[in-house]
Amino acid sequence: MSDKIYDVPGDWAKRAFLDERGYRAKYEASVRDPEGFWADEGKRIEWFEPYTIVKNTSYAPGNVSIKWFEDGVTNVAWNCIDRHLPTRGDQVAIIWEGDNPEESRKITYRELHDEVCRFANVLRNRNVEKGDRVTIYMPMIPEAAYAMLACARLGAVHSVVFGGFSPDSLAGRIRDCGSKVVITADEGLRGGRKVPLKANVDAAIAKAADVEVDHVIVVRRTGGTVNMEPGRDVWYHEAADLVTSECPAIPVGAEDPLFILYTSGSTGLPKGVLHTTGGYLVYASMTHQYVFDYHDGDVYWCTADIGWVTGHSYIVYGPLANGATTLMFEGVPNYPSNSRFWEVIDKHQVNIFYTAPTAIRALMQGGDAPVKKTSRASLRLLGSVGEPINPEAWEWYHRVVGDERCPIVDTWWQTETGGILITPLPGATRLKPGSATTPFFGVIPQVVDAEGNVLEGACEGNLVIADSWPGQMRTVYGDHERFMQTYFATYPGKYFTGDGCRRDADGYYWITGRVDDVINVSGHRMGTAEVESALVAHPKVSEAAVVGYPHDIKGQGIYAYVTLMSGIEPSEELRKELVVWVRQEIGPIASPDLIQFAPGLPKTRSGKIMRRILRKIAEDEFGNLGDTSTLADPTVVEDLISHRQNKK
Ligand code: ATP
Ligand code: MG
Repeated sequence: MSDKIYDVPGDWAKRAFLDERGYRAKYEASVRDPEGFWADEGKRIEWFEPYTIVKNTSYAPGNVSIKWFEDGVTNVAWNCIDRHLPTRGDQVAIIWEGDNPEESRKITYRELHDEVCRFANVLRNRNVEKGDRVTIYMPMIPEAAYAMLACARLGAVHSVVFGGFSPDSLAGRIRDCGSKVVITADEGLRGGRKVPLKANVDAAIAKAADVEVDHVIVVRRTGGTVNMEPGRDVWYHEAADLVTSECPAIPVGAEDPLFILYTSGSTGLPKGVLHTTGGYLVYASMTHQYVFDYHDGDVYWCTADIGWVTGHSYIVYGPLANGATTLMFEGVPNYPSNSRFWEVIDKHQVNIFYTAPTAIRALMQGGDAPVKKTSRASLRLLGSVGEPINPEAWEWYHRVVGDERCPIVDTWWQTETGGILITPLPGATRLKPGSATTPFFGVIPQVVDAEGNVLEGACEGNLVIADSWPGQMRTVYGDHERFMQTYFATYPGKYFTGDGCRRDADGYYWITGRVDDVINVSGHRMGTAEVESALVAHPKVSEAAVVGYPHDIKGQGIYAYVTLMSGIEPSEELRKELVVWVRQEIGPIASPDLIQFAPGLPKTRSGKIMRRILRKIAEDEFGNLGDTSTLADPTVVEDLISHRQNKK
């Protein structure tokens, strides 16, 4: 991979909370005495009743139990809103930028308080109580955040389902957690196109006979016509008119559930990841402060959707717990033009910008001009999350978007981890493009081989975490057995991430992709990410996905799906050129055996390549593709199957 190193810029070393020595000292304290460390750190949020027990966690086989601050009592909405009112009532909490560039709004902490209380009262009037599950199926409008915080205020458990999911996926998620209330909007608006959210809710409820939804609360967004079922459906604005803007924040135990979030399903059937109250908020708040080096007055923008964990921890809970100004964007990166992200940055003077490699690669395809026509002078820090970022995209992000001025925090984490686990800190960490670098406080990553032996020094293997951290998921909703099986059975006594990784001589971590995606060619272990990075580094290649397939001689062969830059035609010559290229970039062992030119790759709605499907196609097993309901565009699969390359 890349061996370039970027030093911490001088101004960053000065302004950041921590420099390199500061990070080291704090990290060492966090692993030497986790109890003492988190006992102090837990105080970053306010407790109605203080905790006396800090950490009570066990990864013991068959008996996994994770509790943090267990006898403390608090409320997440209180911490994200009420606590700030005396000092920041008039400060902007949420900047909302609509799909239409003419539409935006600023919501102060005081307004947020009133809106959330009103929403909570509407829920209370529909018998929503502590512990009840509420499904939220919303576009990226402020009401989505109000709804989440309203649930938190009442101690109800929200399950946010991404607004791009189909009625089937929605029905499955409503059923799994048994929610009796669904919050939605008439329609969503993305890239100028309408998304029929309410109609999807109707279809989901109609389809699933065993789903008993008592109330559907509908926020008016577009004003489009929708069907309202009498007795069941209510317009939010009408219900909100009848209630006050005062609603007490219910005391909630640290280990009471805050939310369920179904994983995106890129490796299998979605799981209801359950997060609880105290440890989650402490961890989201702390990571948001240090990773993004958030200081008072900064304008912070995370482009994720609240349907993903990134939206939960780093649009809503982390930033608001810290009294931050967080930007929420309804639209898409290429509407009305490829300059949209950068125009929004200029419009709202964004200082910290956090997005995903898939967006960076897509924008990179459009060249530098759409970026360069904007100023971006307010930007200070860039972030990346969701997939390994290939060094090519990293360099472009750094050079073109950040004008070589902004550090990039490549944050590795998962829905399951609640917050960021491996990441640079901008004032402390020298950067290597493509590496998530070093662990956050309290996190003990280890690299193990297939037998579970812990490897030392520079090595490659599977990534596990040796001990618990406060943001960790507590269970799979309704299925603790599956939780233990999935995460604690492979390497007893350790949390198994499912990701492969390499650790270099400096102790930096490089995520190589899912363990399932690590291929073994003639006895050499290779991360798919590495081959993909090499392919994407070729000027004619826009995106690449690499999988293994059974190969008579090598054990596994390398099958590469390649999307070309717009205007480039596939050809046999190009195929050969790419093989030679990869050979030069990595070595002969990595030469692709088969290259298929693909106009599009199958992606989850969060933009991740679904290699599971590509693997099946490469293996000739396309009769058995598994669950494809979470694909953003299922039609690409047909094309991939019909242009499959034959094995040698
Ligand atoms: P599912 O678990 O349902 O298959 P998913 O794993 O894609 O879906 P997420 O929890 O959103 O759902 O993604 C976490 C995964 O994303 C990680 O396990 C890792 O593979 C990848 N990932 C996230 N951030 C990074 C990063 N900075 N670098 C490398 N990989 C990353
Ligand atoms: Mg996962």
